[in-house]
Amino acid sequence: MSDPVKYVLDETRIPKHWYNIQADLPKPLAPVLHPGTLKPLGPDDLAPLFPMELIVQEVTQEREVPIPEPVREVYRQWRPSPLYRARRLEKALQTPARIYYKYEGVSPAGSHKPNTAVAQAFYNKQAGISKLTTETGAGQWGSSLAFAGALFGIDVQVFMVRVSYDQKPYRRALMETYGAKCIPSPSPETQSGRAILEKRKDHPGSLGIAISEAVEIAAQRDDTKYALGSVLNHVLLHQTVVGQEAMAQLEMANDYPDVIVGCTGGGSNFAGIAFPFLGAQLRGGKQVRIVAVEPAACPSLTRGRFAYDFGDTAHLTPLVKMHTLGSVFTPPGFHAGGLRYHGMAPLVSHVKDLGLIEAVAYHQTKCFDAGVQFARAEGILPAPEANHAVKGAIDEALKCKAEGKSRAILFNLCGHGHFDMQAYMDYFAGKLKDQDYDEKELAMALAGLPAVKEAA
Ligand SMILES: *Cc1c(COP(=O)(O)O)cnc(C)c1O
Repeated sequence: MSDPVKYVLDETRIPKHWYNIQADLPKPLAPVLHPGTLKPLGPDDLAPLFPMELIVQEVTQEREVPIPEPVREVYRQWRPSPLYRARRLEKALQTPARIYYKYEGVSPAGSHKPNTAVAQAFYNKQAGISKLTTETGAGQWGSSLAFAGALFGIDVQVFMVRVSYDQKPYRRALMETYGAKCIPSPSPETQSGRAILEKRKDHPGSLGIAISEAVEIAAQRDDTKYALGSVLNHVLLHQTVVGQEAMAQLEMANDYPDVIVGCTGGGSNFAGIAFPFLGAQLRGGKQVRIVAVEPAACPSLTRGRFAYDFGDTAHLTPLVKMHTLGSVFTPPGFHAGGLRYHGMAPLVSHVKDLGLIEAVAYHQTKCFDAGVQFARAEGILPAPEANHAVKGAIDEALKCKAEGKSRAILFNLCGHGHFDMQAYMDYFAGKLKDQDYDEKELAMALAGLPAVKEAA
């Protein structure tokens, strides 16, 4: 038993703070702009949507933000999550690489998302909020917030992207089991939803549309706020428990990553595993290559423009500078629903623009090939989103093999795929199509980006 496959920390090692990369950036983030005036946003502008504690976390430059004890108390149920050494996968690949994966599928909702859902529910409860609205793609965020809402006694209303609502009835059932209300989006319940349905009755929906609907309702009511599962600085902040734990676990393994790989939808699980390491590098520590893997059908980092854009389709949200495919872009309905967002987190976009990370895009069948190979070696069945990270890590391991180099690869296995079996069945039936987005639609969406003059 001399070669460990699992590195486990006890509950006392749950991080006591979240790590804020804004403290270590060589160049600060571009300001968030008001959608009406195009002037930098003040904290009060966000107050209808978020409790003040989260608004403060959005802009703070403090390196360490303390994690409230009640949040750590909930984290204890599944954190610290295990770090595995993928020895059987290494053997299957015949690679000299050392492959590690942090497994976030052990959370009650089955992904990394409860790390921020619990924190957001806590701060909203503290601010006297009784109801949260949100959007969900594949349903992981909706079920995570539903779980957190149940713990803190907050009603949760989830707008679920139509294609996922139809493809994933069990995720919907999970949300309802936790007590949340789940509505397919676009819906007739909001102005933004009705406007879309008038143009196209069978619209498949998108995260951008679902966000508009959730924001619209939260903005109208004093007892209701809005929660976002990715993209925003405070969400990425909450996910840094993942990377901090991985760092301690790799220390147990007497190792340090040469390459870190994560999949990117809005950028939160990727930032969660990578930013603590990137921060250490920025403070003079060891250089790490960091690779973001995105779907070729929705390639914001590799094909989008780094520009100011709206976070939603109806243009109710502030403008943020990010890699974007255009807020009116509707990506094709592929199976990694959690990666179907037109934009990318401003912080991830910023470090990409600074050349501190790399990005690659893969088609879904190649990612499922990788996910199935992983499942057959390691036993864990990854979420379709996580398959992108698996594919990225396997490619890095094969590069090591070709070059005869033994490098340490760390990737985030951000969730399990137990609610995504229809996708696997389609894959085995040969029914998965590698869809490309419509180039014309992308060009049009990019041409419609808001015109913002930036200070030099
Ligand atoms: C939501 C989700 C994603 C995409 O969101 P990020 O913010 O990019 O992490 C990826 N994987 C899983 C399992 C998810 O639930």
